[in-house]
Amino acid sequence: MKIVTIKEKECQAPEACDYICVQVCPRVREGAVGTVYKRENKKAAIDENLCIACGICVNRCPYDAIRVINLPDELNKELVFQYNVNSFRTYNIVSPMEGKVVGILGRNGIGKTTNINLISNTLKPNFGDFLNGASEKEIIRRFRGKEIQPYLEKLYKGDIKISKKEQSLSFTGKVREIVKKNKYKLITDEIMDKDISSLSGGQIQSVAIAAAMDNEADVYIFDEPMNYLDIYQRLRIANIIKEKLKNKTTIIVEHDLVMLDYLTDFVQIMYGSESNYGIVSHLMQTRVGINNYLAGYLPSENMKFREHEIKIKGNVPDGSLETLASWPDFNANIGQFTLSVGQNTVYRGEIVGIIGENGVGKTTFAKAITGLVETDNGRLELGLKISYKPQFIEASDVIVRDMLISIKRDFLSSETFSGIMKRLGIDRILNKNMKNLSGGELQKLAIFSTLLRDADIYLFDEPSANLDLEDRLEAINIVGSFIKANKKGAIIIDHDLMFINAISTRAALFEGTPNKSGRMGNITRTEEAINSLLKRVDITMRKDPDSGRPRINSPNSRLDIEQKKSGRMFEI
Ligand code: ADP
Ligand code: MG
Repeated sequence: MKIVTIKEKECQAPEACDYICVQVCPRVREGAVGTVYKRENKKAAIDENLCIACGICVNRCPYDAIRVINLPDELNKELVFQYNVNSFRTYNIVSPMEGKVVGILGRNGIGKTTNINLISNTLKPNFGDFLNGASEKEIIRRFRGKEIQPYLEKLYKGDIKISKKEQSLSFTGKVREIVKKNKYKLITDEIMDKDISSLSGGQIQSVAIAAAMDNEADVYIFDEPMNYLDIYQRLRIANIIKEKLKNKTTIIVEHDLVMLDYLTDFVQIMYGSESNYGIVSHLMQTRVGINNYLAGYLPSENMKFREHEIKIKGNVPDGSLETLASWPDFNANIGQFTLSVGQNTVYRGEIVGIIGENGVGKTTFAKAITGLVETDNGRLELGLKISYKPQFIEASDVIVRDMLISIKRDFLSSETFSGIMKRLGIDRILNKNMKNLSGGELQKLAIFSTLLRDADIYLFDEPSANLDLEDRLEAINIVGSFIKANKKGAIIIDHDLMFINAISTRAALFEGTPNKSGRMGNITRTEEAINSLLKRVDITMRKDPDSGRPRINSPNSRLDIEQKKSGRMFEI
């Protein structure tokens, strides 16, 4: 069985394209006119039954809008939803479990949000009949014998009340009007009185979560709740969700593996081909499911969905102790904010992780050692050039290729950079306008362009934001080998503990009062820095023996009690 997808946004007919796909189709030439045709909205469409999958239109489409994909035949009977002609479709459906927390794990564009909409009655299963849809009665009949059937039956009767934290945070107005009760004190009084437009990303996310938790509901759904939250907010909100929604049916989509693992009892994996189709796996216990996901193989379904296994290992230092940057004790003041930093050294080929709350001087530190911010004793003259990826990336109205050429003219002929470009999928967006990129694409582009700039120190402020798990791990490998191979240095600020633990050999904890004062802790082994962080929040972690990923211990479990007693909050 095959499916054909055409990305409507990419298809430039009729304005900029004269239906090259129609012109080159051998079936059309033979007289099978309806094989490739114009839709009512003038975009191209392909009849999946008439198409012979020759691939000519796929190769000839100047806008790379067409995909022809072969699927295993047995999938046909499980098609649950398709948006439109030649559009994305999903097979199987996410299954909430009464009284349990189910996590959904999968790449960006694989259909997680689509599935959430299907179980919250924002969308209805149509079993591929996107023109007519299916009646509720038909839907119930089609799911007979499946876990989802009794759930949908109650949902359509109005017996299930759903409270949902949407992935996109499109709020406006006063916080107090959005978070009415603030039942679990997720929002401070000061923020309650503000307008959404004056808040930071993390604060808006907290508002969205608080609003969802305020509602009395039977089912709670959180679509990517940890985005933009700092590490303390993540841990605190995770604990509140765990405690307050105990025994509530809950669904959570999340790419922060440590948090997904901590929050959920079971997971369902979504795999397939991004923006073409997605398949939902069976339910698995969380630990098993995450490890299967990393392995790229589902034993119960005998399904290998990725060629390679994902390995999470700590970054190994290359042993060289050649100094790249060394600075004395210093203080720096900008506006109302004071930062104090102790004397320290960054070695060549090393990645230093930075963890801590937002607003305690992480970026100010990086700017100070590269001379962009003055210290109390004047500018530090360490002779270092910095390349900086800011936390928030602005998309300008420019073609990606031109933007990259303006940074490094000959990047396309460099072996290193063309390799990195492919691994990040930048080669596929070279002809796109930056304004049309997704959050994940924009982040990968920002990481790539930061590496393109010639510098001594590469500073990445929250590179994991908007990236799915695979992208996060790819970014770890790419940045890790680039810095090592070129004997540069990197400073990476992030709130995903798996990410920080895997990418950095040493790390520092920043502490202080946000926007007033901050202090940089010593640069120590990353595990030590995480240890200090965990002490502050009284949480313990260990490493999974199979995958090497960090896991939070359940409060008051045997390991939790033992580790707290010994003070080894992060046992490795
Ligand atoms: P995820 O949440 O896993 O990132 P989504 O469910 O948001 O994935 O999207 C899956 C695919 O469905 C994407 O390719 C997206 O472009 C497509 N899609 C989403 N909404 C629509 C729609 N209304 N019409 C057509 N395609 C859509
Ligand atoms: Mg989504």
